[in-house]
Amino acid sequence: MTTTYRIAVFPGDGIGNEIVPQAIRVLQAISNKYNIKVELQEALVGGSAIDEFGIPLPEDSLRIALNSDAVLLGAVGGPKWEGLDYAIRPERALLGLREKLGLFANLRPARLFTALADASTLKRSVIDGIDIVVIRELTGGIYFGKPRGIEKVDGEERGVNTEVYTTHEIERIARLAFQVAGSRHGRVCSVDKANVLESSELWRRVVIGVHKEYEDVQLSHMYVDNCAMQLIRNPGQFDVILTNNLFGDILSDEAAMLTGSIGMLPSASIGGEVGMYEPIHGSAPDIAGQDKANPIATILSVGMMFKYSFGLDIAYDDIDSAVNRVLDKGYRTADIYSQGNKLAGTIEMTDIILNELA
Ligand code: NAD
Repeated sequence: MTTTYRIAVFPGDGIGNEIVPQAIRVLQAISNKYNIKVELQEALVGGSAIDEFGIPLPEDSLRIALNSDAVLLGAVGGPKWEGLDYAIRPERALLGLREKLGLFANLRPARLFTALADASTLKRSVIDGIDIVVIRELTGGIYFGKPRGIEKVDGEERGVNTEVYTTHEIERIARLAFQVAGSRHGRVCSVDKANVLESSELWRRVVIGVHKEYEDVQLSHMYVDNCAMQLIRNPGQFDVILTNNLFGDILSDEAAMLTGSIGMLPSASIGGEVGMYEPIHGSAPDIAGQDKANPIATILSVGMMFKYSFGLDIAYDDIDSAVNRVLDKGYRTADIYSQGNKLAGTIEMTDIILNELA
């Protein structure tokens, strides 16, 4: 009997509504090619859900996500909702989905597409051949630690957040990092601030403990400030970077920019039974509704879904090489365009990728 994969589709806001429908075209083409049955269910999250239901993650959307095999998300947020109380901002939908789906690991590959080497602000000699995966812990650390808040103390305000990690939270993300490195170049660099923070001291100790189960993988440690510098100085030294929620948020954006454009980079959030796949960029209100958005990050996120949720690495490779060939032929959306290239809009870029896939 053929399995049918149920996929929850959340376009979200802004360019999410342009890039997700295009990524769905690719999803359907690749499903047909490999004879996979998919059932899509679309729902509102983020600002669009606030407009319709008053909350960023309606019960119905959450139920669809929980009953699916994987979630494809566009992006949430925009100026329209920026004045809202923090508790009902569009971004709360992402935090809610991560928490309810148990997505404790965020995987962000940062790899250079050779045709785009000149779009990076760094010299080609520095970025040539980079192929990094940043694995960021996603459900713990300072974003969730308590106490938190802003209080009045002695006539002034005091803001508090708490960085907190427990052994099991570190163990499970470390295990995943060693497994991912084992299927790649076999090197994990664990990034912390163990010279100053006790939570980092524990992080390092636990990572060293878990490493004993994966001795074929090489483990190194780096302080986060040095890592921020090394990513610019010599990014080729990294294979898998393993780090906590806050450091991962910052370092994965830095790693992303090595490759030129934010519009190129996919991500996978995994750990629970249902994985969530989304581009790393936001809803780009400045270009929304103009057919200018680069759909490639979302299309590659579909590739990651096939790899990590459905175990179909071949589909990922197929999408990836189609994108590479399109770039080699000189097609570019505006964000990665330079003189002499062929400019394509969101829909046309997808048409060309679909042609290559066929
Ligand atoms: P952004 O990523 O939306 O945009 C930053 C810049 O990159 C903009 O100039 C934008 O035009 C460009 N850009 C982004 N994606 C692109 C694409 N696919 N193709 C071409 N250009 C692209 O970040 P921002 O402007 O800081 O945030 C806008 C909104 O998105 C905010 O409300 C923010 O909270 C939200 N946001 C959401 C997510 C998410 O849903 N995961 C992530 C980041 C930001």
